[in-house]
Amino acid sequence: MALRLKEPNRSSGPGPALVTDVPAIVRSVIDDIRTRGDGAVRSYSEKFDKWSPSSFKLSQDEIQQIISTVPQQIIDDIKKAQENVRVFALAQKASLKDFEMEIRPGVHLGQKNIPISSVGAYIPGGRYPLLASAHMTILTAKCAGVPHVVACTPPIAGKIPANTITAMHYAGADEIYILGGVQAIAAMAIGTSTMKKVDFIAGPGNAFVAEAKRQLFGVEIGIDLPAGPTEILIVADEQADPFVVATDLLSQVEHGLDSPAVLITNSQSVGEKTIQEVDRLLKILPTADVAGVSWDRLGEVIVVEDLDQAYKLADEFAFEHVQILTQMPREALEKMSNYGALFLGEKTCVSYGDKCIGTNHVLPTRGAARFTGGLWVGKYLKTVTYQEVTSPEESGELGRLCGRAARAENFEGHARSGDVRAHQYLNDKFEW
Ligand code: NAD
Repeated sequence: MALRLKEPNRSSGPGPALVTDVPAIVRSVIDDIRTRGDGAVRSYSEKFDKWSPSSFKLSQDEIQQIISTVPQQIIDDIKKAQENVRVFALAQKASLKDFEMEIRPGVHLGQKNIPISSVGAYIPGGRYPLLASAHMTILTAKCAGVPHVVACTPPIAGKIPANTITAMHYAGADEIYILGGVQAIAAMAIGTSTMKKVDFIAGPGNAFVAEAKRQLFGVEIGIDLPAGPTEILIVADEQADPFVVATDLLSQVEHGLDSPAVLITNSQSVGEKTIQEVDRLLKILPTADVAGVSWDRLGEVIVVEDLDQAYKLADEFAFEHVQILTQMPREALEKMSNYGALFLGEKTCVSYGDKCIGTNHVLPTRGAARFTGGLWVGKYLKTVTYQEVTSPEESGELGRLCGRAARAENFEGHARSGDVRAHQYLNDKFEW
């Protein structure tokens, strides 16, 4: 039995309406860019971002000039956060081993991890300059060994986001474009006369960006994962501080108008006090115009009987961020399996992951945590295999096995590749 103290109110106002025909809008923009290339990219940048410079790409001189305007403290903080991301990403890479084994005498099978040749990194910036996404996408690609990274970020209110450009540069971007939304994703995926096509696109974004990646995935590009509007779910017990719970819920609903936030608790008192705290804090939070709309539309508070029920329900949500504010937070590692990232205990929070602690903040949304984790070096590597047979006898035996296996599937051509070798190395009778 679960008691719902606050339910989502999807039809509520005030605030701008949620755009519901995102797939159709995205499809028409992509089709136009496929047909008209640079001209279409420019017209959508003008339409959605009022941005039409002589070149969307920044020169090295422009990048240096922009960085010279950024306060030293911000540069130092960017470097510190990037160092944390680098250390963890390189440790993850070290956990991926190339290997070769002799499965039978003279039969060698191997595995290699090869970096993707060219990657497009999207750094969101419609509402906020999400500079930390540069560490997560560009730097992680570089740690994986990707030779060429093209990076795009939108202008904010008609201006180049200097802090974001600084983070993109120090993360190691090879090319930087001030271009946002579907037009950036489509230009990188399809290629235009001024932008070379990439093989893979990574990075978070709003519903338009996430949908563009989804539609282009397959023939045109690979993608990291579905990483759309942010989600937070908190599991809290009776010891949790409602003020901290409310603060952490609000930290994520300020992202946009479509960011769900859910509290699951075994304490009715914590649930009720958290709702009161959210209402109180929304009166003083500077981003309450956004956060309040998201909380009203997509906020939920659910009281369950015990923590086992809380973990089970949390797994059904399969949210991007799951924060555990209980007396034994590490038990979630055993009891839960569907989440993008777990934040264990009151001394950490989702914002640490978002900005600086070192784990990647590009994480699965809308239930994708059921089948994928977040962005990491492994997403930028192709795990490929190879084989070699050095023993004539083993090749002949494999030829016999392959011949029978292929004929069981009515593949006569495959079978003869085996027959040829069984004949050559074991003198089996064979006529082509
Ligand atoms: P954004 O860069 O993702 O999107 C801005 C672009 O959207 C603009 O450049 C514009 O071209 C386009 N756009 C806006 N309105 C449009 C419309 N009506 N039609 C077509 N295109 C339109 O920046 P944002 O909007 O601030 O969103 C950032 C998002 O990234 C947030 O939703 C945040 O929650 C999410 N995020 C997700 C993760 C994750 O890992 N899942 C991480 C960080 C951020």
